[in-house]
Amino acid sequence: MSKIIEPLRGVHDLLPAATPAWQHLERITREVFAAYGYDEFRVPIIEQTQLFKRSIGDFTDIVEKEMFSFVDQGEDHITLRPEATAGIVRAVISNGLLRDGRLRLWCMGPMFRRERPQAGRFRQFHQIDAEAFGFAGPDIDAEMILLSARILRRLGLTDVKLLINSLGTPQARTGYREQLGAYFGAHGEQLDEDSKRRLQGNPLRILDSKHPQMQRLIAQAPVMLDSLDGESREHFDALCALLRNAGIEYHVAPRLVRGLDYYSRTVFEWVSDGLGAQSSVCAGGRYDGLVAQLGAAPTPGIGWAMGQERIVMLMEKLGLTGSVQRPQLYMVIAGAAAEAQAFKVAESLRDAWPQLRLQYNLGGGNFKTQFKRADKSGATFALVLGEDEMARGVVAIKDLRAGREQEECEFSRASERIGVLLGLKAGKAE
Ligand code: ATP
Ligand code: MG
Repeated sequence: MSKIIEPLRGVHDLLPAATPAWQHLERITREVFAAYGYDEFRVPIIEQTQLFKRSIGDFTDIVEKEMFSFVDQGEDHITLRPEATAGIVRAVISNGLLRDGRLRLWCMGPMFRRERPQAGRFRQFHQIDAEAFGFAGPDIDAEMILLSARILRRLGLTDVKLLINSLGTPQARTGYREQLGAYFGAHGEQLDEDSKRRLQGNPLRILDSKHPQMQRLIAQAPVMLDSLDGESREHFDALCALLRNAGIEYHVAPRLVRGLDYYSRTVFEWVSDGLGAQSSVCAGGRYDGLVAQLGAAPTPGIGWAMGQERIVMLMEKLGLTGSVQRPQLYMVIAGAAAEAQAFKVAESLRDAWPQLRLQYNLGGGNFKTQFKRADKSGATFALVLGEDEMARGVVAIKDLRAGREQEECEFSRASERIGVLLGLKAGKAE
Protein backbone atom coordinates (compact mmCIF):
# COMPACT_ATOMS: atom_id res chain seq x y z
CA MET A 1 0.00 0.00 0.00
CA SER A 2 1.34 3.46 -0.74
CA LYS A 3 1.96 5.93 2.04
CA ILE A 4 -0.92 8.13 3.21
CA ILE A 5 -0.49 11.79 2.28
CA GLU A 6 -0.70 14.12 5.27
CA PRO A 7 -1.79 17.77 5.13
CA LEU A 8 0.96 20.39 5.14
CA ARG A 9 2.25 21.64 8.50
CA GLY A 10 0.11 24.41 9.95
CA VAL A 11 -2.71 23.73 7.47
CA HIS A 12 -5.95 22.25 8.76
CA ASP A 13 -9.03 20.50 7.51
CA LEU A 14 -12.26 21.93 8.80
CA LEU A 15 -14.34 18.87 9.61
CA PRO A 16 -18.15 18.91 9.35
CA ALA A 17 -18.50 18.95 13.15
CA ALA A 18 -16.59 22.25 13.26
CA THR A 19 -18.36 24.08 10.45
CA PRO A 20 -21.46 25.25 12.38
CA ALA A 21 -19.34 27.58 14.51
CA TRP A 22 -17.72 28.99 11.37
CA GLN A 23 -21.08 29.40 9.65
CA HIS A 24 -22.42 31.19 12.69
CA LEU A 25 -19.44 33.55 12.76
CA GLU A 26 -19.79 34.19 9.03
CA ARG A 27 -23.56 34.81 9.25
CA ILE A 28 -23.13 37.33 12.08
CA THR A 29 -20.31 38.99 10.12
CA ARG A 30 -22.51 39.43 7.03
CA GLU A 31 -25.36 40.82 9.11
CA VAL A 32 -23.19 43.31 10.96
CA PHE A 33 -21.45 44.61 7.82
CA ALA A 34 -24.86 45.04 6.18
CA ALA A 35 -26.04 46.93 9.24
CA TYR A 36 -23.23 49.49 8.70
CA GLY A 37 -23.61 49.75 4.91
CA TYR A 38 -20.38 47.94 3.94
CA ASP A 39 -20.16 46.04 0.63
CA GLU A 40 -18.55 42.65 0.25
CA PHE A 41 -15.45 42.55 -1.91
CA ARG A 42 -13.58 39.44 -3.09
CA VAL A 43 -9.98 39.67 -4.20
CA PRO A 44 -7.59 37.04 -5.59
CA ILE A 45 -5.64 34.67 -3.39
CA ILE A 46 -2.54 35.03 -5.57
CA GLU A 47 -0.97 38.36 -6.46
CA GLN A 48 2.35 39.57 -7.78
CA THR A 49 4.98 39.23 -5.06
CA GLN A 50 5.93 42.84 -5.62
CA LEU A 51 2.54 44.01 -4.36
CA PHE A 52 3.17 42.69 -0.87
CA LYS A 53 6.81 43.79 -0.81
CA ARG A 54 5.82 47.31 -1.76
CA SER A 55 2.89 47.63 0.61
CA ILE A 56 3.70 45.61 3.72
CA GLY A 57 7.34 46.71 3.99
CA ASP A 58 10.72 45.00 4.08
CA PHE A 59 11.34 44.96 7.81
CA THR A 60 8.20 43.07 8.74
CA ASP A 61 7.85 39.45 9.85
CA ILE A 62 5.65 38.85 6.84
CA VAL A 63 8.02 40.07 4.14
CA GLU A 64 11.20 38.96 5.91
CA LYS A 65 10.22 35.35 6.42
CA GLU A 66 6.55 34.46 6.19
CA MET A 67 5.50 34.75 2.56
CA PHE A 68 4.69 31.72 0.44
CA SER A 69 6.30 32.92 -2.79
CA PHE A 70 7.13 31.07 -5.96
CA VAL A 71 8.04 31.60 -9.58
CA ASP A 72 5.50 29.98 -11.90
CA GLN A 73 6.03 28.32 -15.28
CA GLY A 74 5.76 31.69 -17.00
CA GLU A 75 8.47 33.24 -14.77
CA ASP A 76 5.89 35.31 -12.87
CA HIS A 77 6.76 36.02 -9.24
CA ILE A 78 3.69 35.09 -7.26
CA THR A 79 2.76 35.13 -3.56
CA LEU A 80 -0.18 33.60 -1.72
CA ARG A 81 -1.82 36.55 0.01
CA PRO A 82 -0.62 36.90 3.62
CA GLU A 83 -3.31 39.52 4.34
CA ALA A 84 -6.13 41.24 2.47
CA THR A 85 -5.40 44.96 2.59
CA ALA A 86 -2.73 45.02 -0.12
CA GLY A 87 -4.94 43.11 -2.56
CA ILE A 88 -7.95 45.29 -1.85
CA VAL A 89 -5.96 48.49 -2.33
CA ARG A 90 -4.55 47.08 -5.57
CA ALA A 91 -8.07 46.12 -6.68
CA VAL A 92 -9.77 49.43 -5.91
CA ILE A 93 -7.00 51.14 -7.88
CA SER A 94 -7.02 48.69 -10.82
CA ASN A 95 -10.81 48.89 -11.09
CA GLY A 96 -10.94 52.67 -10.84
CA LEU A 97 -13.21 52.52 -7.80
CA LEU A 98 -11.48 55.39 -6.02
CA ARG A 99 -13.00 57.83 -8.49
CA ASP A 100 -16.15 57.66 -6.36
CA GLY A 101 -14.10 58.88 -3.44
CA ARG A 102 -15.66 57.00 -0.58
CA LEU A 103 -15.72 53.22 -0.19
CA ARG A 104 -16.64 50.96 2.69
CA LEU A 105 -15.75 47.34 2.01
CA TRP A 106 -15.30 44.00 3.69
CA CYS A 107 -14.01 40.60 2.71
CA MET A 108 -13.38 37.20 4.23
CA GLY A 109 -11.17 34.27 3.32
CA PRO A 110 -7.94 32.31 3.67
CA MET A 111 -4.52 33.94 4.20
CA PHE A 112 -1.11 32.27 4.11
CA ARG A 113 1.96 32.88 6.24
CA ARG A 114 4.87 30.52 6.72
CA GLU A 115 5.23 30.91 10.47
CA ARG A 116 5.99 28.39 13.18
CA PRO A 117 2.68 26.58 13.72
CA GLN A 118 1.32 26.60 17.29
CA ALA A 119 -2.02 27.04 19.03
CA GLY A 120 -3.78 29.97 17.33
CA ARG A 121 -1.03 30.37 14.74
CA PHE A 122 -1.31 28.56 11.43
CA ARG A 123 0.12 28.68 7.93
CA GLN A 124 -3.27 28.79 6.28
CA PHE A 125 -5.69 30.79 8.40
CA HIS A 126 -8.76 32.92 7.77
CA GLN A 127 -9.51 36.56 8.27
CA ILE A 128 -12.54 38.79 8.25
CA ASP A 129 -11.40 42.10 6.89
CA ALA A 130 -12.85 45.62 6.79
CA GLU A 131 -11.44 48.51 4.73
CA ALA A 132 -12.59 52.07 4.05
CA PHE A 133 -11.20 54.64 1.63
CA GLY A 134 -11.64 58.37 1.32
CA PHE A 135 -12.41 59.23 4.94
CA ALA A 136 -9.82 61.41 6.64
CA GLY A 137 -11.51 62.19 9.95
CA PRO A 138 -11.56 60.23 13.21
CA ASP A 139 -15.25 59.32 12.76
CA ILE A 140 -14.40 56.41 10.44
CA ASP A 141 -11.80 55.20 12.97
CA ALA A 142 -14.58 55.11 15.55
CA GLU A 143 -17.04 53.41 13.17
CA MET A 144 -14.48 50.73 12.29
CA ILE A 145 -13.92 50.01 15.97
CA LEU A 146 -17.67 50.01 16.74
CA LEU A 147 -18.20 47.55 13.90
CA SER A 148 -15.57 45.13 15.18
CA ALA A 149 -16.96 45.55 18.71
CA ARG A 150 -20.45 44.67 17.48
CA ILE A 151 -19.28 41.47 15.78
CA LEU A 152 -17.51 40.35 18.95
CA ARG A 153 -20.53 41.26 21.09
CA ARG A 154 -23.01 39.54 18.79
CA LEU A 155 -20.90 36.39 19.07
CA GLY A 156 -21.07 36.58 22.86
CA LEU A 157 -17.35 37.33 23.22
CA THR A 158 -17.33 39.94 25.94
CA ASP A 159 -14.03 39.04 27.55
CA VAL A 160 -11.93 41.08 25.12
CA LYS A 161 -10.04 44.31 25.56
CA LEU A 162 -9.53 47.17 23.11
CA LEU A 163 -6.06 48.72 22.87
CA ILE A 164 -5.48 51.92 20.89
CA ASN A 165 -2.51 54.05 20.01
CA SER A 166 -1.41 56.63 17.46
CA LEU A 167 1.68 56.36 15.28
CA GLY A 168 1.38 59.94 14.04
CA THR A 169 2.32 60.90 10.51
CA PRO A 170 5.36 59.38 8.76
CA GLN A 171 7.00 62.84 8.91
CA ALA A 172 6.51 63.16 12.65
CA ARG A 173 7.71 59.60 13.02
CA THR A 174 11.15 60.37 11.63
CA GLY A 175 12.26 62.10 14.82
CA TYR A 176 10.74 59.38 16.97
CA ARG A 177 12.42 56.70 14.87
CA GLU A 178 15.79 58.33 15.57
CA GLN A 179 15.04 58.52 19.27
CA LEU A 180 14.08 54.86 19.26
CA GLY A 181 17.18 53.94 17.24
CA ALA A 182 19.36 55.68 19.81
CA TYR A 183 17.59 53.93 22.69
CA PHE A 184 17.84 50.41 21.26
CA GLY A 185 21.32 51.13 19.89
CA ALA A 186 22.49 51.93 23.43
CA HIS A 187 21.25 48.48 24.52
CA GLY A 188 22.66 46.67 21.48
CA GLU A 189 23.93 43.73 23.52
CA GLN A 190 20.38 42.89 24.68
CA LEU A 191 18.88 42.73 21.19
CA ASP A 192 17.97 39.43 19.52
CA GLU A 193 19.01 38.78 15.91
CA ASP A 194 15.78 40.11 14.30
CA SER A 195 15.90 43.25 16.39
CA LYS A 196 19.53 43.91 15.45
CA ARG A 197 18.57 43.80 11.79
CA ARG A 198 15.56 46.05 12.40
CA LEU A 199 17.68 48.52 14.29
CA GLN A 200 19.35 49.33 10.97
CA GLY A 201 16.23 49.11 8.79
CA ASN A 202 13.32 50.27 10.94
CA PRO A 203 13.71 50.44 14.73
CA LEU A 204 9.94 50.91 15.13
CA ARG A 205 9.53 47.27 14.16
CA ILE A 206 11.46 46.25 17.28
CA LEU A 207 8.44 47.30 19.34
CA ASP A 208 6.47 44.54 17.60
CA SER A 209 8.97 41.83 18.60
CA LYS A 210 7.42 38.78 20.25
CA HIS A 211 10.81 37.68 21.62
CA PRO A 212 10.52 37.21 25.43
CA GLN A 213 14.08 38.51 25.88
CA MET A 214 13.03 41.83 24.32
CA GLN A 215 9.94 42.57 26.37
CA ARG A 216 11.59 44.37 29.30
CA LEU A 217 13.59 46.63 27.00
CA ILE A 218 10.49 47.40 24.92
CA ALA A 219 8.46 48.26 28.02
CA GLN A 220 10.88 51.10 28.78
CA ALA A 221 11.32 52.42 25.26
CA PRO A 222 10.27 55.99 24.44
CA VAL A 223 6.69 56.25 23.18
CA MET A 224 5.33 57.83 20.01
CA LEU A 225 2.44 59.52 21.82
CA ASP A 226 4.99 61.92 23.34
CA SER A 227 6.18 62.98 19.87
CA LEU A 228 2.83 63.28 18.07
CA ASP A 229 2.36 66.16 15.65
CA GLY A 230 -0.50 68.53 16.48
CA GLU A 231 -2.98 67.21 13.92
CA SER A 232 -2.38 63.59 14.87
CA ARG A 233 -2.84 64.51 18.52
CA GLU A 234 -6.17 66.17 17.70
CA HIS A 235 -7.22 63.17 15.62
CA PHE A 236 -6.36 60.80 18.46
CA ASP A 237 -8.12 62.88 21.12
CA ALA A 238 -11.21 63.14 18.91
CA LEU A 239 -11.26 59.37 18.41
CA CYS A 240 -10.99 58.79 22.15
CA ALA A 241 -13.92 61.16 22.72
CA LEU A 242 -16.04 59.43 20.07
CA LEU A 243 -15.35 56.05 21.65
CA ARG A 244 -16.19 57.33 25.12
CA ASN A 245 -19.45 58.87 23.85
CA ALA A 246 -20.35 55.61 22.13
CA GLY A 247 -19.75 53.71 25.37
CA ILE A 248 -16.75 51.70 24.14
CA GLU A 249 -14.14 51.01 26.75
CA TYR A 250 -10.55 51.34 25.52
CA HIS A 251 -7.02 51.30 26.87
CA VAL A 252 -4.30 53.51 25.47
CA ALA A 253 -1.33 51.25 24.70
CA PRO A 254 1.56 53.60 23.86
CA ARG A 255 3.87 50.83 22.57
CA LEU A 256 1.32 49.20 20.30
CA VAL A 257 2.61 49.15 16.73
CA ARG A 258 1.29 46.97 13.95
CA GLY A 259 3.36 44.35 12.17
CA LEU A 260 2.97 46.14 8.86
CA ASP A 261 4.81 49.25 7.81
CA TYR A 262 1.94 51.07 6.17
CA TYR A 263 0.10 52.30 9.24
CA SER A 264 -0.21 55.97 10.19
CA ARG A 265 -2.02 57.60 13.09
CA THR A 266 -4.61 55.28 14.66
CA VAL A 267 -3.70 51.67 15.39
CA PHE A 268 -5.83 49.35 17.48
CA GLU A 269 -6.09 45.78 18.56
CA TRP A 270 -8.63 43.59 20.34
CA VAL A 271 -6.91 41.16 22.69
CA SER A 272 -8.13 38.27 24.81
CA ASP A 273 -6.59 36.45 27.74
CA GLY A 274 -8.28 33.24 26.66
CA LEU A 275 -5.85 32.34 23.89
CA GLY A 276 -2.53 31.70 25.59
CA ALA A 277 0.41 33.31 23.84
CA GLN A 278 -1.65 34.40 20.81
CA SER A 279 -3.72 37.15 22.38
CA SER A 280 -4.58 39.27 19.36
CA VAL A 281 -8.00 38.54 17.82
CA CYS A 282 -8.44 41.63 15.67
CA ALA A 283 -6.02 44.31 14.63
CA GLY A 284 -6.03 47.30 12.38
CA GLY A 285 -5.47 50.96 11.84
CA ARG A 286 -5.17 53.84 9.46
CA TYR A 287 -2.94 53.71 6.38
CA ASP A 288 -3.19 57.13 4.77
CA GLY A 289 -0.05 56.72 2.65
CA LEU A 290 -0.67 53.28 1.18
CA VAL A 291 -2.87 54.16 -1.80
CA ALA A 292 -0.31 56.68 -3.04
CA GLN A 293 2.50 54.21 -2.33
CA LEU A 294 0.78 51.82 -4.73
CA GLY A 295 0.59 54.42 -7.47
CA ALA A 296 -2.80 56.16 -7.20
CA ALA A 297 -3.80 59.65 -6.07
CA PRO A 298 -3.37 60.03 -2.29
CA THR A 299 -6.47 58.70 -0.54
CA PRO A 300 -6.84 58.05 3.17
CA GLY A 301 -7.53 54.45 4.16
CA ILE A 302 -8.25 52.47 7.27
CA GLY A 303 -8.95 48.81 7.98
CA TRP A 304 -8.82 45.88 10.34
CA ALA A 305 -8.50 42.12 10.18
CA MET A 306 -9.97 39.58 12.57
CA GLY A 307 -8.48 36.08 12.89
CA GLN A 308 -11.32 33.61 12.42
CA GLU A 309 -9.51 30.63 13.99
CA ARG A 310 -8.83 32.62 17.16
CA ILE A 311 -12.45 33.81 17.31
CA VAL A 312 -13.71 30.25 16.88
CA MET A 313 -11.32 29.10 19.63
CA LEU A 314 -12.89 31.67 21.97
CA MET A 315 -16.39 30.60 20.91
CA GLU A 316 -15.51 26.97 21.61
CA LYS A 317 -14.23 27.84 25.08
CA LEU A 318 -17.63 29.34 25.84
CA GLY A 319 -19.53 26.48 24.20
CA LEU A 320 -20.95 28.82 21.55
CA THR A 321 -20.33 26.51 18.63
CA GLY A 322 -23.82 25.51 17.43
CA SER A 323 -24.53 22.05 16.11
CA VAL A 324 -24.50 20.34 12.75
CA GLN A 325 -27.84 20.53 10.94
CA ARG A 326 -29.19 17.03 10.45
CA PRO A 327 -31.75 16.05 7.80
CA GLN A 328 -35.39 16.30 8.86
CA LEU A 329 -36.70 13.65 6.55
CA TYR A 330 -35.07 10.43 5.33
CA MET A 331 -36.63 8.83 2.30
CA VAL A 332 -36.94 5.05 2.43
CA ILE A 333 -37.64 3.45 -0.96
CA ALA A 334 -38.49 -0.16 -1.81
CA GLY A 335 -39.65 -1.89 -4.98
CA ALA A 336 -39.38 -1.02 -8.66
CA ALA A 337 -42.54 1.12 -8.77
CA ALA A 338 -41.35 3.25 -5.86
CA GLU A 339 -37.82 3.52 -7.23
CA ALA A 340 -39.18 4.80 -10.53
CA GLN A 341 -41.01 7.64 -8.77
CA ALA A 342 -38.78 8.39 -5.81
CA PHE A 343 -36.47 11.11 -7.22
CA LYS A 344 -39.52 12.91 -8.63
CA VAL A 345 -41.22 12.81 -5.23
CA ALA A 346 -38.08 14.03 -3.45
CA GLU A 347 -37.59 16.87 -5.92
CA SER A 348 -41.22 17.98 -5.66
CA LEU A 349 -40.93 18.06 -1.85
CA ARG A 350 -37.78 20.19 -2.13
CA ASP A 351 -39.68 22.48 -4.56
CA ALA A 352 -42.57 22.83 -2.15
CA TRP A 353 -40.41 23.40 0.96
CA PRO A 354 -37.15 25.20 0.16
CA GLN A 355 -36.07 24.89 3.81
CA LEU A 356 -36.71 21.15 4.03
CA ARG A 357 -33.65 19.01 4.70
CA LEU A 358 -34.35 15.72 2.98
CA GLN A 359 -31.85 12.88 2.68
CA TYR A 360 -32.49 10.27 0.02
CA ASN A 361 -31.61 6.62 0.51
CA LEU A 362 -28.94 5.80 -2.04
CA GLY A 363 -27.83 2.32 -3.04
CA GLY A 364 -31.01 0.38 -2.18
CA GLY A 365 -31.04 -2.05 0.75
CA ASN A 366 -33.86 -3.78 2.58
CA PHE A 367 -36.17 -1.97 5.00
CA LYS A 368 -34.04 -2.85 8.01
CA THR A 369 -30.88 -1.45 6.40
CA GLN A 370 -32.65 1.66 5.22
CA PHE A 371 -34.22 2.38 8.62
CA LYS A 372 -30.83 1.92 10.24
CA ARG A 373 -29.42 4.53 7.87
CA ALA A 374 -32.43 6.77 8.54
CA ASP A 375 -31.78 6.58 12.25
CA LYS A 376 -28.07 7.28 11.82
CA SER A 377 -28.79 10.29 9.62
CA GLY A 378 -30.36 12.04 12.60
CA ALA A 379 -33.60 12.66 10.68
CA THR A 380 -36.80 13.18 12.65
CA PHE A 381 -39.08 11.38 10.21
CA ALA A 382 -38.78 8.66 7.58
CA LEU A 383 -40.92 8.96 4.49
CA VAL A 384 -41.59 5.44 3.25
CA LEU A 385 -42.34 4.69 -0.39
CA GLY A 386 -42.81 0.91 -0.41
CA GLU A 387 -44.35 -1.54 -2.85
CA ASP A 388 -47.48 -1.96 -0.79
CA GLU A 389 -47.91 1.81 -0.27
CA MET A 390 -47.41 2.55 -3.98
CA ALA A 391 -50.10 0.00 -4.88
CA ARG A 392 -52.55 1.76 -2.56
CA GLY A 393 -51.58 5.31 -3.61
CA VAL A 394 -50.27 6.30 -0.17
CA VAL A 395 -46.99 7.02 1.59
CA ALA A 396 -46.09 6.10 5.15
CA ILE A 397 -44.54 8.61 7.56
CA LYS A 398 -42.69 7.24 10.55
CA ASP A 399 -41.60 9.33 13.49
CA LEU A 400 -38.06 8.09 14.16
CA ARG A 401 -37.67 9.80 17.51
CA ALA A 402 -40.99 9.80 19.38
CA GLY A 403 -41.95 6.13 18.91
CA ARG A 404 -45.43 7.10 17.69
CA GLU A 405 -47.49 4.87 15.38
CA GLN A 406 -46.54 5.08 11.75
CA GLU A 407 -49.15 7.07 9.83
CA GLU A 408 -50.28 6.85 6.26
CA CYS A 409 -51.44 9.58 3.99
CA GLU A 410 -52.57 9.88 0.40
CA PHE A 411 -49.94 10.58 -2.17
CA SER A 412 -51.52 13.92 -3.12
CA ARG A 413 -51.56 15.12 0.52
CA ALA A 414 -48.08 13.92 1.52
CA SER A 415 -46.32 17.23 0.95
CA GLU A 416 -48.86 19.19 2.98
CA ARG A 417 -48.70 16.68 5.84
CA ILE A 418 -44.89 16.81 5.94
CA GLY A 419 -45.08 20.59 6.05
CA VAL A 420 -47.39 20.42 9.08
CA LEU A 421 -45.34 17.76 10.90
CA LEU A 422 -42.09 19.67 10.48
CA GLY A 423 -43.57 23.13 10.91
CA LEU A 424 -42.24 24.23 7.52
CA LYS A 425 -42.99 27.57 5.93
CA ALA A 426 -43.95 27.61 2.25
CA GLY A 427 -41.91 29.71 -0.10
CA LYS A 428 -40.61 29.80 -3.60
CA ALA A 429 -37.43 27.86 -4.26
CA GLU A 430 -34.69 30.23 -5.44
P1 ATP B 1 0.54 38.34 15.59
O1 ATP B 1 1.06 39.49 16.37
O2 ATP B 1 -0.31 37.38 16.41
O3 ATP B 1 1.55 37.66 14.72
P2 ATP B 1 -0.10 39.94 13.37
O4 ATP B 1 0.29 41.28 13.84
O5 ATP B 1 0.83 39.20 12.47
O6 ATP B 1 -0.49 39.00 14.60
P3 ATP B 1 -2.22 40.83 11.65
O7 ATP B 1 -1.40 40.75 10.43
O8 ATP B 1 -2.57 42.15 12.18
O9 ATP B 1 -1.56 39.94 12.78
O10 ATP B 1 -3.54 39.96 11.46
C1 ATP B 1 -4.77 40.25 12.10
C2 ATP B 1 -5.29 39.07 12.87
O11 ATP B 1 -5.18 37.87 12.13
C3 ATP B 1 -4.50 38.78 14.14
O12 ATP B 1 -4.96 39.59 15.17
C4 ATP B 1 -4.82 37.33 14.37
O13 ATP B 1 -6.08 37.20 15.02
C5 ATP B 1 -4.92 36.78 13.00
N1 ATP B 1 -3.69 36.09 12.60
C6 ATP B 1 -2.55 36.63 12.13
N2 ATP B 1 -1.63 35.70 11.82
C7 ATP B 1 -2.25 34.49 12.08
C8 ATP B 1 -1.85 33.12 11.96
N3 ATP B 1 -0.66 32.79 11.48
N4 ATP B 1 -2.72 32.16 12.33
C9 ATP B 1 -3.94 32.49 12.80
N5 ATP B 1 -4.38 33.75 12.93
C10 ATP B 1 -3.56 34.75 12.58
MG1 MG C 1 2.36 37.83 12.78
